[in-house]
Amino acid sequence: MTRRVGLIGKPLKRRHSQVMQDAAFDAAGIDARYVLLELEPDAVEDAVREARGPDWLGLGVTAPYKRLVGGLCDEVEADAETIGAVNNVLRTSSGGLVGFNTDAPGFQAGVERAMGRSLAGADVVVAGAGGAAHAVVFACLRAGARQVTVGNRTAGSAATLIERFAGVGSGSRSAVALTDLAFVTALGSADVAVNATTVGMLDPGTTIPVEALPPSATVFDLVYVPAETPLLQAARARGLRAANGSEMLIAQAAIAFERWTGVAGMADVMRAAVAPLLADTSARA
Ligand code: NAP
Repeated sequence: MTRRVGLIGKPLKRRHSQVMQDAAFDAAGIDARYVLLELEPDAVEDAVREARGPDWLGLGVTAPYKRLVGGLCDEVEADAETIGAVNNVLRTSSGGLVGFNTDAPGFQAGVERAMGRSLAGADVVVAGAGGAAHAVVFACLRAGARQVTVGNRTAGSAATLIERFAGVGSGSRSAVALTDLAFVTALGSADVAVNATTVGMLDPGTTIPVEALPPSATVFDLVYVPAETPLLQAARARGLRAANGSEMLIAQAAIAFERWTGVAGMADVMRAAVAPLLADTSARA
């Protein structure tokens, strides 16, 4: 029996996850396939119910169904509950469904690789307060960041995000508007500045004025299509360490694969498999 993991979302424009997971199934000698389930909202409940069957290992979940699918699981792990998003589901041996989130550990692995150090004790500035920013801020606070400043176009959303994580970590934290002087001031002592907005992917320009950063700072852009955003270009031109979101994507995929199969250490296989897609300079959001 060929087993399956299904990615539920709409639209499903990218094949990155499928390419990585199928390469890992092949490398691990597991008879399974990652299938794309582009579904209308009224079809999601049936698809999740079907995933309780023995031919399923689990599900991936992407926009706009991260909350909806979480509500259809038997259990949602504490981190996913705190972040407010389920982006993967594990089918247990008895047909139960457990929702979990890989954005936070995926971000941590990707950013620490880019920084060449741990987030513990780091001063972090995050642009954005959407779904991805929730995972980013959670990961930073839980990893022991010293200070986390969240700047968002809509300042109220940044404040709501900060309030949500009041019980996570002990680092200091603040919410500002992207246009506030306090945002630029925070950049002046940042160890890492993170773009967790869609700017650079859907809109032109950048969210982070790199000239405000110290020479030791790292710039991490969650966007990976296009591979080289205006923010990353500006950071590199200033001689800063800079990385896009591809390592976060790969780390997340490897974490989910291990949960579904029990097989760890597939990041290198996945990185090699997805490299041609990531290098496709014609790819656009
Ligand atoms: P989202 O929930 O829709 O949030 C969008 C964010 O971008 C909000 O903070 C929004 O600000 C801000 N924004 C949008 N247009 C803007 C503009 N013109 N100027 C300033 N801010 C703007 O999106 P998301 O799911 O968090 O995704 C954010 C990015 O992360 C996407 O590019 C996504 O591809 C990437 N991502 C990457 C990975 C990875 O593995 N590498 C994983 C997850 C997400 P307002 O609140 O003011 O609207």
